[in-house]
Amino acid sequence: MKLISIVVPCYNEEESLPLFYEEIQKIMKQMQDEHPDLLFELVFIDDGSRDKTLEILRSMALQDKRVRYISFSRNFGKEAGMYAGLENAKGDFVVVMDADLQHPPAFLPRMYNYVKDGEFDCATTRRVSRQGESKIRSAFARLFYKIMNKISQTEIVDGAQDFRFMTRQMVNSILEMPEYNRFSKGIFSWVGFKTKYIEYENVERQVGTSSWSFWGLFRYSLEGIFAFSTAPLAAAAILGMLSCLIGLILFILWIVQAVGDSIQAAQTGLFCALFFLGGLQLFCTGILGQYFAKTYLETKHRPIYIMRENEEIYRKRQNPDHAKK
Ligand code: UDP
Ligand code: MG
Repeated sequence: MKLISIVVPCYNEEESLPLFYEEIQKIMKQMQDEHPDLLFELVFIDDGSRDKTLEILRSMALQDKRVRYISFSRNFGKEAGMYAGLENAKGDFVVVMDADLQHPPAFLPRMYNYVKDGEFDCATTRRVSRQGESKIRSAFARLFYKIMNKISQTEIVDGAQDFRFMTRQMVNSILEMPEYNRFSKGIFSWVGFKTKYIEYENVERQVGTSSWSFWGLFRYSLEGIFAFSTAPLAAAAILGMLSCLIGLILFILWIVQAVGDSIQAAQTGLFCALFFLGGLQLFCTGILGQYFAKTYLETKHRPIYIMRENEEIYRKRQNPDHAKK
């Protein structure tokens, strides 16, 4: 028998969850009809939702033995949710997908075909269009991928998503990267392995709203850059050298002007250089500070997530006699 774990991070998904559950059940049944040796488990992560997500998960877990869940003590972010799911999944294969049906479950049978015989270690989807997304957002996303792939050794494929069908071997490799500042798109790519990209048109969210704001995404992309590239550090050093050179030229100019007695011009030049160098220094210190901050957070060895409840705790609470046996 082969077990497939489906990991689903959920943050305020009370509207999406019933729809998702219905869809995924159909697909699980279809796959089991095709491959009778398949078993499934659903691992939902309640990422500190403020709506009825946890209640829905509880009742699902009571009715369906395949449903497991981990409920966080607060909102830790999708990255932490995915990590918790991967860490707790027991399957020979692990799927990571969103709850909002933007990662269509209908792809799963095809993805399984790619990984089942070991031809690929990972099957994932790649959006070829960004339909339904604002123009500015798409433009910034493209820019991010361009910069990222120029300055980082780790390739981040434009349009690649966190919808992944992975082998146990690949999941174990990902779990060996317990870094606190997580950027999954980079991590998936950094561990390597053979990945199959299935191209498809973007699907819009069925219900509810995206929990990513523009600034949230912007911060996330900076996270990606600082976590997977040290190029900004080199850029800071080069910029510093360049400005020293400019400073030297300005100094010579200043002496020449001073001899010609144009004090006014000399003053302007001096202020110009002062501001320029001051700004540059702050900029470079800022870049250094970013890496320093990341290192600081890593050295604290804080847990990536904190669990408040899971299906086992809940079942025991509901039925204490059963738990004693
Ligand atoms: N999500 C999460 N924690 C968060 C934000 C989002 O677990 O802090 C989940 C969310 O429930 C969904 C997935 O991550 O299953 C993708 O989120 P969303 O649809 O808001 O992002 P988008 O599709 O716009 O990238
Ligand atoms: Mg979504």
